[in-house]
Amino acid sequence: MHRPEPKQLRLLAPLSGVLLPLEQVPDLVFAQKMVGDGISLDPTSEELLAPVAGKITQLHDAHHALTILTDAGPEILLHIGVDTVLLKGAGFMPLVKLGDHVLAGQALIRFDADAVALSARSLLTQIVVANGESVSRLTVARGRVVAGRDTLMVLDLAAAARPQVEASLGSSVRSDMVLLPNPAGLHARPAAVLAAAAKKFVADTRLVRGAEAANAKSLVAIMALSTQAGDAVHIQASGPDAAEAAKALAQLLAQGCGEAVGDAPAAAAPVPAPSAARASPASLHELLGVSASPGLAVGHIVQYRVAAIAVAQTGGSPQHERARLEAALHEAGQQLETLKLALADPAKGEILAAHQELLEDPDLFDAAIVGISAGHSAGYAWRDAFGRSAGQLEALNNALLRERANDIRDVGRRVLALLAGVAQAAIVVPENSILIAEELSPSDTASLDRSKVLGFCTTTGGATSHVAILARSLGIPAICGIAANALLLAEGSQVLLDGSKGILHSAPSADEVAGARKRMAQQAERRAEELAQAASPAITLDGHRIEVVANVRNAADTREGVANGAEGVGLLRSEFLFDERETAPSEDEQAQEYCAVAEALGPKRVLVIRTLDVGGDKPLSYLPLPKEDNPFLGLRGVRVSLAQPAMFRTQLRAILRAAGLTQLHIMFPMIATLEELREAKAILAEEQATLGVAEVKVGLMIEVPSAALLAEQFAREADFFSIGSNDLTQYTLAMDRGHPQLAKKADGLHPAVLKMIALSCEGARKQGKWVGVCGGLASDAMAVPVLIGLGVTELSASVPAIPAIKAQVKRLSLAACQALAQEVLLLATASEVRARLAAFAE
Ligand code: PEP
Ligand code: MG
Repeated sequence: MHRPEPKQLRLLAPLSGVLLPLEQVPDLVFAQKMVGDGISLDPTSEELLAPVAGKITQLHDAHHALTILTDAGPEILLHIGVDTVLLKGAGFMPLVKLGDHVLAGQALIRFDADAVALSARSLLTQIVVANGESVSRLTVARGRVVAGRDTLMVLDLAAAARPQVEASLGSSVRSDMVLLPNPAGLHARPAAVLAAAAKKFVADTRLVRGAEAANAKSLVAIMALSTQAGDAVHIQASGPDAAEAAKALAQLLAQGCGEAVGDAPAAAAPVPAPSAARASPASLHELLGVSASPGLAVGHIVQYRVAAIAVAQTGGSPQHERARLEAALHEAGQQLETLKLALADPAKGEILAAHQELLEDPDLFDAAIVGISAGHSAGYAWRDAFGRSAGQLEALNNALLRERANDIRDVGRRVLALLAGVAQAAIVVPENSILIAEELSPSDTASLDRSKVLGFCTTTGGATSHVAILARSLGIPAICGIAANALLLAEGSQVLLDGSKGILHSAPSADEVAGARKRMAQQAERRAEELAQAASPAITLDGHRIEVVANVRNAADTREGVANGAEGVGLLRSEFLFDERETAPSEDEQAQEYCAVAEALGPKRVLVIRTLDVGGDKPLSYLPLPKEDNPFLGLRGVRVSLAQPAMFRTQLRAILRAAGLTQLHIMFPMIATLEELREAKAILAEEQATLGVAEVKVGLMIEVPSAALLAEQFAREADFFSIGSNDLTQYTLAMDRGHPQLAKKADGLHPAVLKMIALSCEGARKQGKWVGVCGGLASDAMAVPVLIGLGVTELSASVPAIPAIKAQVKRLSLAACQALAQEVLLLATASEVRARLAAFAE
């Protein structure tokens, strides 16, 4: 039978630049194609052209995004940059208006790429089909494209629009009113999340604001409503599942539609309709982020923004500009040296030393010289070079590398300030300040005046960012990745920052402030008492000994751990030795570090060294591993070591050189099968035989359900287990441990995870082996009684948590912990477990 050729629509490249798959956009909503399918473009031009003729049906107030409705049906969304909505139009100039009819190739928006790149997360520009049902196939180009000349993608048009579901079935339901918590209203990302959720229901769903309504299944319609923070909206649904749809979508709206804006229980509940106009959004009172550095602080808001540094495009002769650049690089190096010397803490020094290395990076320098040779001023060429380098890292699908982009921008700005003759002074603030910023650079953080800055929040970054590490070492309570609403808080207003919970209370009552001050005094007193008692062993009231040991990265951490009462090291994360280098560390280099840790512990204490745990999500630049669709299920942990036997053997030999200095234990990460354990052990035995090292205990991390389920079989062939509860949780619940929207659900106290731990303890006990926990659960006071009750005898915690964990163990009885453990294993959800554990703690 003859099938008619599908009708096609060709889209032109709207900008010149390099094309990238959407999956690489550093924004989950685009990367997961929730906005629609299409492509991303790393631009080298600054004028967005229409890829196709049509009508402008949406032009965002921030002028960073617009939609073109084509006559053929597809609606094309063009979105310049990531998080550019927060720039509120700065750097963008629209050349068309809503309702205009445009021709393919017509200029739509002009933007200042340098200014935008400096202030936004990424300049990557997304071109997606917003109404996916209008297209049956989408073929995208690859590589480099020239704006207005090359084809960007070809759309095969769907034969006919699907008939609309008859919406009049069932009655119409109106949801509770919701005050939108999103600081920039429902822009592309939250709109896409809402539309995707609405499409799961058969009911016709409308997003209603006052007299206006938009189809909640249409991304474009939602955006066209041009909502603002605090707008009162509701969902009107009709159809068979209208009630569920209205409830679910209202709930989603109240939670910010995937934007981290106050998804605390108080904020999550929709505001009941009658009181809608009464209060400001609950989410402005409790802003959530990630705990970056623990502790409480009461202080006054200081909004901190990085000022853009202006530089002229053209400069003097290339020789003159080059000399200026070299002088600025040299001076920046000196500044960092001075800053480093002022810091007593080596952890902070290392970060600034890494910045010094960036100043000597030949690629960055060469890129700037290319610009200078083309007639640009040193400042212009340097800004272009570091902006691009940081942008490339940000575009990668790798959180760690994206964080390094922050370092490049930081050091880049330091040099730029010198070139522009702008003083980059330390942040000057009044006393009792709580800083709010989109981003703080490591240099900003390192130079904060601890006597004035009581805490800070950034809308970017996470618990592993350098800023978070610095905050912890400075002892400043901090929250990273806080809801963007924080940027709207009034200067000088009083707030209460809870760094441990990752919550900023923006309008605390006098009682709350008094309560927090009292808790702070009590905490300080308790910490001092716990520390004074930390050297004595952790023995329960009924005489059961629990080893409380430390998770460390190096000898400095180990010494600090011992001073905090650690009875040994339960996890030396050896991968920290391998990170941020050009080549793998030599056997001697590694041995030096392992021996230093062993010496810090002495001959009687236990040192558990975990072999290299990288791969997949944690690549090493010098270790070529294939790109994988599912990195967490690919070459990761021990699988990398077995695939790279030479590197593995070097590490094992280096570790074995620490035998004799301490009670040496070696463990392998992410073991899933007995064959993996046997293979790793056989290689270790060969190296032991060569070096003549007899006595080393060998264990494995229980991080994968298969290892927990076959614990007894594994226990026959290992001396001990250490439960990696972070990975065991992600693999048991099938939830990516770094996924922002799953973070709250990926709970190590889920009964399914506890069952895995119970099975591991049971299998080990039958074979007379011991079980420790070195994942986050071991540092969580709520989890400690249940872990002890399940049979765990070693808790390997973060160094600051050790005194409190030891004190807690001394207040518990094993019998009560065992009864508690049996009880919670019968529960059905993580929240039921948490409620029971909270009651136990009272
Ligand atoms: C874990 O997974 O719990 C663990 C301790 O290992 P990682 O370094 O992967 O957090
Ligand atoms: Mg792990």
